[in-house]
Amino acid sequence: MDTNITFKDIKKNNYSSIYHLIYQNEKLSKQEIANQLHLSLPTVTQNLVRLEEENLIAKSGQFESSVGRRATAYTICPKARISIGVEILKKKVHILAIDLLGVVIEKKELSIDYSNVDSYFKEVSDAVEAFISSLNVEKRKILGIGFAVQALTATDGQTITYGKILNCTGLDIHVFSQHLTYPCMFFHDAKCAATTELWIRNDIGDAVYLSIGTHLGGAIIINDQIYMGKDGFSGTVEHMTIDPEGLPCYCGKRGCMETLCSVSALLEEDESLEFFFQQVRSGIPSYLERWNSFLDHLALSINNIHLVINREFILGGHITPYLNESDIQLLHEKVDERTAFPSNESFIYISRSPEYGVTIGAAIPFIQSFLNSI
Ligand SMILES: [Zn+2]
Repeated sequence: MDTNITFKDIKKNNYSSIYHLIYQNEKLSKQEIANQLHLSLPTVTQNLVRLEEENLIAKSGQFESSVGRRATAYTICPKARISIGVEILKKKVHILAIDLLGVVIEKKELSIDYSNVDSYFKEVSDAVEAFISSLNVEKRKILGIGFAVQALTATDGQTITYGKILNCTGLDIHVFSQHLTYPCMFFHDAKCAATTELWIRNDIGDAVYLSIGTHLGGAIIINDQIYMGKDGFSGTVEHMTIDPEGLPCYCGKRGCMETLCSVSALLEEDESLEFFFQQVRSGIPSYLERWNSFLDHLALSINNIHLVINREFILGGHITPYLNESDIQLLHEKVDERTAFPSNESFIYISRSPEYGVTIGAAIPFIQSFLNSI
């Protein structure tokens, strides 16, 4: 046993374990907490009082009991802290607030064209500040603001290291944080989508996450963590060359997976996903053909990545609501036709993330570090 553990550490540990046990269970009684954590009732009581004083937990009714006194139920206060997610897109900005359980409590959408000038950053910041004011919560409860960007970001979230889509390489978080009074961080949008998936599911382990939106974004998940690699571009399969003679990609090269497997590659100008899939599901031959050829390219890419990482693949992004099980089955068949290692086991799944998964994923890191600090 580590002899450096002090009495203070044990006290902090009990406090923390009790909070996290209540967090994981919707409601618990004092006795159940004592039983599950093997603690004495006075120790549990003392910590419950402290947690209640700090407004982190609250009494919430009583448990039914056939004998004796009914036990008081304790539950966490989800709104004890709030985190803000902002998704920066070319023509839009999504803003939302989540509570400690990751539940969206309010959201807003702005139509504003991205531009690398202070008036843009000020306008977005003012909109975020006004959004926060409309929540009517104490300032100290706001943990921070995460900005999801279609770009690679430094591990500390303070700068953009590669941002060709919005032409914002080198951008410092200061452009927003100088107008805001909360901690601010940048996060890569594909990583945000994967973060939300990890938050919802605790059984992922290792997986490849493909966020298929206007642009394609990949993320590698290892041990339930997003693996960034030495320079932070692990998993950016969107720039893997599929066709050396192919169409130009925004990265400056040709025939990247992005040019064949993104929503921009699938749709024609002014076509919407909704319209496209209506035609596909109605069996219109020309649309079926386009969808089939998209799945061919996706299968080729998935097979290549699968040979490097023999793990589950999760398909997320804006395309998710339109995908169905027969698409996934067809994709499996197409991968099987190509691969050196055909298998009957399915390994491609549709994401379980809710709508606004990217924006939620930009807010989650602040919640995670707060929960870790208790
Ligand atoms: Zn590229």
